[in-house]
This record gives sequence, C-alpha cells and structure tokens, in this order.
Amino acid sequence: MIYNNAQKEIANKIEGEPKISNWKDWRWQLKHAIRSLEKFEYLTGIKFSDDERRDLKKTFGKFPLSITPYYLSLIDKKNYKNDPIFKQAFGGIEELTTINSEHEDPLSEDKDSPVRGITHRYPDRVLFHVSNVCSMYCRFCTRKRKVGDVDFVPSKDELAEGINYIKNTPQVRDVLLSGGDPFMLSDDKIDWLLSEISQIPHVEIVRIGTRIPVVLPYRITDNLVSILKKYQPLWINTHFNHPNELTTSSKEAVAKLADGGFPLGNQSVLLADVNDCTRIMKSLLHKLVQNRIRPYYLYQCDLSEGLSHFRTPIGKGIEIMESLIGHTSGFARPTYVIDAPGGGGKIPVMPNYIISWSTNKVVLRNYEGVITTYKEPDSYEPKLCDRDCDNCNLDLNLNEKDETEAIGIEKLLSDSCDTISLVPENNERLQRRDDNE
Ligand SMILES: *Cc1c(COP(=O)(O)O)cnc(C)c1O
Repeated sequence: MIYNNAQKEIANKIEGEPKISNWKDWRWQLKHAIRSLEKFEYLTGIKFSDDERRDLKKTFGKFPLSITPYYLSLIDKKNYKNDPIFKQAFGGIEELTTINSEHEDPLSEDKDSPVRGITHRYPDRVLFHVSNVCSMYCRFCTRKRKVGDVDFVPSKDELAEGINYIKNTPQVRDVLLSGGDPFMLSDDKIDWLLSEISQIPHVEIVRIGTRIPVVLPYRITDNLVSILKKYQPLWINTHFNHPNELTTSSKEAVAKLADGGFPLGNQSVLLADVNDCTRIMKSLLHKLVQNRIRPYYLYQCDLSEGLSHFRTPIGKGIEIMESLIGHTSGFARPTYVIDAPGGGGKIPVMPNYIISWSTNKVVLRNYEGVITTYKEPDSYEPKLCDRDCDNCNLDLNLNEKDETEAIGIEKLLSDSCDTISLVPENNERLQRRDDNE
C-alpha cells in the first residue's frame, strides 16, 4: 500500500506514532475528523493570527467545521489561500455575511415536505433525506441550515415514515436518497432501507446522491458494493467540484462503484474562485468521463445563507456551457441548472442557438459561430392528439401509457386542453373584469 507524504504526516500527527495503516479505515477517518481550529492548525502547520482566529471561531460557532483527514491531506499547504480544497472545506468570516435575497431554506425543501424526511416536489419522484450526517461539512452546502445540528441518524421508525409515504403515493417511480450523506448510514441500515424501498411495486429506480467518494472514498468498501448490487437498478450521483478531487483513492472508490454496475453521474456546484473557469471545468469533466462518471448537473450556487462569496453571476455558467457545447464530447457536459428559489425545481439554462425562424426555416448558429439554416418540412400534417391512445394510429401499444395530465407550458402546447394562457394569481386586470361582471 502506498501513501503519500501528506497522508503520512497527518496520520503520524494524529496518532502520535506512525499509524498510517489505519488511513484507509473509514471509521478511523471519521473518528479523527478535524472539527476544531486548533486541530486544523496542528495538523497542517498553518497558523492564523489572533484576529483571524477570533473570526474563524465566530464562523465555526454558527457553521461548524468538519474535515476528514483524507480531504485535509489534499490541501496545498504552501498556497492554501488559493487552494480549491481548502476553500471548500475550511471557510471564513465571509460566511457570516447574509444578504437580503438569501434564505435558510431557499428551495423550500421543508415546506414541500409532506412527512419528515421527504421533499415531494416533482410529480413522479421524491427526495428522501435519510441521514443528517456528513463526513465533511462543505462550506457551500445548500442545506447549511442543517449542518451541525446534532448529528442525527434517523432510526428505522423514523425512516419508516418516509417509506410509508412512498408506499402510499403510487405516482412515485423514482426515489432519490440524499441527506446528509446516505453512505454515512451503516451497511445494515442501507441494506434494510434499500430492501424496503425496492419492495414497493411502483418504485422503478432508486438513486443515491453522495459526496463520500470525494471526501471519504474508503467508505466505498467491497461489502457496501455487494449490498448495493442487490438493489439494481440503482443510480449513483457523486459530487466532484474540482479536478484536484480526482485522486488515486477517489478513483479507486469510483471504479468499485462502476465495476459494481451502477450508472454514475456527477453533480457539481459552480463556485467562485474554485471552479468558475472554463479550463478548470473542462479538466474536471474530462477526468470524470475518464473515470466512467457522466456529468449530470452543474448547479448555480443556491441562495442559502452565507454563500454570497461563492456565488457567480449566471453569465459565468452560460459562458462555461458555451465553452463545452460542441467543443467537447456531448456526454462530458452537464446540464447547467438554477434551482428555483421557492421550490420551483431545477431550471436548465443554456446559451441561445436559435437565431431566427420563418414558417419553414430555422436559422441557427453553431459553437464555431457558423450561421446555418435548417429547412423544415413544407408539409407536416399535425396529428391532433386527444390523449386517446387506444384509438391512435401511432399504435404504440403502450400498456403503461403516461396517465398524467399535461401541466405548465406542456399544457399550452397540447391539443387536448383548451387552456390558452397561464395567468398569475391575483392578476389585477382580470380581477377588474370579474368586478365589472
Ligand atoms: C433535484 C431534485 C430531484 C431530482 O430531480 P432530477 O431533475 O430528476 O434529477 C427531485 N426532488 C427534489 C426536491 C430535487 O431537488
């Protein structure tokens, strides 16, 4: 087993003797997580001034510190102020600045929660918070409001509330396990939870959202993988934000999951001074696909409290997408999304490619700036759809046809609905009409 110097140095300091053999024991990593400023200074040799220490203590009083020794070992100590790992893990006084547009719960996850642990936002899928525990507290966490609440691993009875909700809600076909980090649960609890969920007939897939492969890769043990393998189809979304996070250890963890047969995705957050650079982002995405991870989402940083120093304008995200689309493999590029404040869900945002349009021609531009035309068919007989699939000549023979009503813009486009406009509630103009009647 080969360890690098940073790992050896930290392990030796933690144990007071060379105990590097424990390094890959994930429970050892958790037990020795860095949760105080003093321990951070001791293990890294970085020293803060009295003023800095006072500010940092104030910050960690509100948003606590926790870093695994593994993640700590990735910090470039000589240049830590510019280090993307340091910035994601350590934090500073800027976190105590809150601005008007920020909220404790900007996505209204708690409001859209029918029972404890479940956020039911979209018609056919739910978010299930199965643990409140993380191995590392990311400074940019969207659920910062919960970070450092007494670490709370729900009991089976508490998880059963969420499971029952899913059981009793037949439209849920996709269950997304999140947290905290689901992989902070014990192997037995994970086994039990997945077995309960997989027995629900209408649940077609389960997904796990986890940052464990990035911050505590040794948690991905053979035993864990063999448990997960019992519950296919299981999709796993990791959370790499910077190419420096793809290390020998994290690649090994990811390889175990890929070899286990789980489709792997990645969600990144666009973070100022961490990855808001087209070249860094491209390098990250290329490393992900080399490791069999398909980039899924790039998130605009949420309006959670204390994150203003991490936020970029949306233009930065669009610029990054512009540098990717066409320039690199289609499957190396994520969808850039803004999670709508107030709980509207994820909204994809892209550069514009349609320049103009006539009745039978579309003018488009490509990634090189070439302007081109696409000739549309002169005769296209629109098929009127009345959603009567049984009598439709497309004859799809679908025995599981989509029974959901069209909503939103989809509804405006559909033939089977008379709605011609969507009007915000309390529209004054329409209220005047009512008053005149
Ligand atoms: C992101 C999210 C999902 C999953 O959305 P997808 O676009 O299907 O990945 C589901 N529920 C909530 C509350 C979410 O935030």
